[in-house]
Amino acid sequence: MKRSQRISVAVFLSLIVSVGCESASSNQSRKPNIVILATGGTIAGAGATGTQSAYTSGAVTIDAMVDAVPGVKDLANIKGEQVANVGSQDMSFDIMLKVAKRINELLPKKDVDGIVVTHGTDTMEETAYFLNLVVKSDKPVVLVGSMRPSTAVSADGPLNLYNAIGVAVDPKSRGLGVLVVMNDWIHAAHSLTKTSTTDVQTFMSPLRGLVGIAAYGHNDYYNAPPWKHTTKSEFDVSNVTKLPRVDIVFGCADMSPDLIDASVNNGAKGIVIAGVGNGNMNKASLDAAERAAKKGVVVVRSSRVALGTVGRNVEVKDDDMGFVASDELNPQKSRILLSLALLKPRQVSQIQDLFYSY
Ligand code: ASP
Repeated sequence: MKRSQRISVAVFLSLIVSVGCESASSNQSRKPNIVILATGGTIAGAGATGTQSAYTSGAVTIDAMVDAVPGVKDLANIKGEQVANVGSQDMSFDIMLKVAKRINELLPKKDVDGIVVTHGTDTMEETAYFLNLVVKSDKPVVLVGSMRPSTAVSADGPLNLYNAIGVAVDPKSRGLGVLVVMNDWIHAAHSLTKTSTTDVQTFMSPLRGLVGIAAYGHNDYYNAPPWKHTTKSEFDVSNVTKLPRVDIVFGCADMSPDLIDASVNNGAKGIVIAGVGNGNMNKASLDAAERAAKKGVVVVRSSRVALGTVGRNVEVKDDDMGFVASDELNPQKSRILLSLALLKPRQVSQIQDLFYSY
């Protein structure tokens, strides 16, 4: 090789090396930016000792929560905002709207790559599903909580938070809708439900299975949720300050129809029946539900049973009575979808279509 050729090869190689170094260093400076929106719950709870079950929700700051998670700052640049501070039994539509609006402000920013919402587990599925319908971005939004307070022996919050941030920074999480990460499992907002009052392994997605598995920042994805959500959703709460009242009436043997009438008389615009079996109720309650539907209150038949779908016109003549069947949605998620559906005038048949697509 001539000397001049040797020089140009050397220059070429040094260029490759310098480009390589540049991308490695700019990759480092491009560590994803995650915003944690904290709302309270057991993940931020503290008890007097490591073994007592009594604790106070929302006693721990976001910084203290993040500091309790070794290595998490290697995954992302993390900023925190306290949006609310409640046990999620006190979660309200007002707080859900506040969280949704803040997410919709943050996600369009170039320097925000994903959101993690810390939340109590009691109503986490409801907030997750609400956000799934009203967030206008395909960047990751991940809800996380814990079953044990931060002070407990073997608190589950730190690993859950690590995994939630690991999922929020993963480009493969984009476009999957709102996700929930608990106990190493990644759930779709549409499918998960709380199944145990106290077990760490409480959340299941019994009908559709998991979206994937999270393991210390390494994630496996199995299933993309098939329903409409986020960027494909028609629901927009940017100008909404209040959601229509929708009540849930629980079905049982010898169910009292009075609760349905009371709901109507107290101003409900929609009623979800957590019916027995395939969304059934006794004759007296069917009559009350039909009275409600005739007054323009939208009645959705869901089920108190954990597994299975509620189908139209199976044992109840939905076409004649003017009811909606919830399909896969449990009563608490049916209530969220129905409240959003009632934000504008819609025919019962159009609301039924929403239950098939969301
Ligand atoms: N009651 C608590 C809450 O939902 C329970 C929990 O977070 O696990 O806020």
